[in-house]
Amino acid sequence: MKISILVFGSNNFLAKLPDQIRDQTAYILEVITDVSQAVAHIQITPPDIIFLQASLDSSIQLCGWLKEQTQLSWIYSIFLEDRPEELANRNRYGWEWELQMTAAILNQGADAYVWQLPEDKKDYSLTGLTANDRLILAHLTVGLRKVQKYRDLIQKNDLLSAIALADSLTELNNRRALEWDLPRQIQKAQNQNTPLSLIILDVDYFKKVNDTYGHLVGDRLLQLLCSRLRHNLRSQDTAFRYGGEEFVIVLANTTGEEALLVADRLNRVVSEQPFAINSKVTIDVTISLGTASLEVGDDEKGLSLLHRADQCLFHAKATGRNQAISWEHLSRFSHLQAVSS
Ligand code: GH3
Ligand code: MG
Ligand code: MG
Repeated sequence: MKISILVFGSNNFLAKLPDQIRDQTAYILEVITDVSQAVAHIQITPPDIIFLQASLDSSIQLCGWLKEQTQLSWIYSIFLEDRPEELANRNRYGWEWELQMTAAILNQGADAYVWQLPEDKKDYSLTGLTANDRLILAHLTVGLRKVQKYRDLIQKNDLLSAIALADSLTELNNRRALEWDLPRQIQKAQNQNTPLSLIILDVDYFKKVNDTYGHLVGDRLLQLLCSRLRHNLRSQDTAFRYGGEEFVIVLANTTGEEALLVADRLNRVVSEQPFAINSKVTIDVTISLGTASLEVGDDEKGLSLLHRADQCLFHAKATGRNQAISWEHLSRFSHLQAVSS
């Protein structure tokens, strides 16, 4: 991935920077002189490294703004001093002045403060680079190291998040992932005024599988079952391992009626074909399912929604297993029971 550099300065200022910075094979270079344009650009496409031209009025302001953006703290900002009056002050007051200026600019939020010497003060070496150029390029190297470390960190973080949210046996999302995802799905459904449903399902008599064939076969069966479920879900459905042999499927943009159709289909794809553990062992398995949909008054975490689906699952277990029961069905059933008693 290319490194992006933003030069907050004039074209004339850019022309005085070492040639290496304009190497298009290594860097994506942007040059901006207007502070609000720079802020907008940084917010949309944050660069890795920024060069700021001190003689541009808003450089200090931009530095201060960057310092306050904690989520952009990885950007390496190099403040280049090109103000003739500061150079004159430095010549007049010596090192003391330079140290004070450096401290002040670093406190403003810059990562480096470098003097950009005028042409006549430049001291060309055999390499064709001035000592000043070499210092600027050295700071660029520091910036590149920082960017690399930051990118490595992001990659590790992504990996850790993926591990933390995945179930190692079935490779489905785990319960923690559901607790993270469900409130977001609920908020989205409420904001966009779209339906949201979920299914809870549990394997019937799974303990018997473990008791008969052993735990390892039980594990393998769970893997095969999850793979079959996953292949039979639609793109908007997300499956989670909720507990041992219990799973939740969140169905975005799905009404209660549609959720029951999905649940019935999953019930069939599990029960209609046995699972081949190996060439000798095949196991017939059924599942029970409960479905519920988001209602006005449901809590934002989804606990009441989960609870309704769980009650349906409980009812499916209690009335024979190997079936899907919806909340609509269950509430009608309870209502009829209440009327007849
Ligand atoms: P029911 O139809 O009422 O759901 O009966 P059941 O036997 O499936 O229910 P129960 O909750 O009594 O048993 C679930 C079993 O699932 C018990 C537990 O040992 C087993 N189990 C949970 N997680 C795993 C796992 O990761 N691997 C294996 N092999 N077994 C598991
Ligand atoms: Mg079970
Ligand atoms: Mg269970």
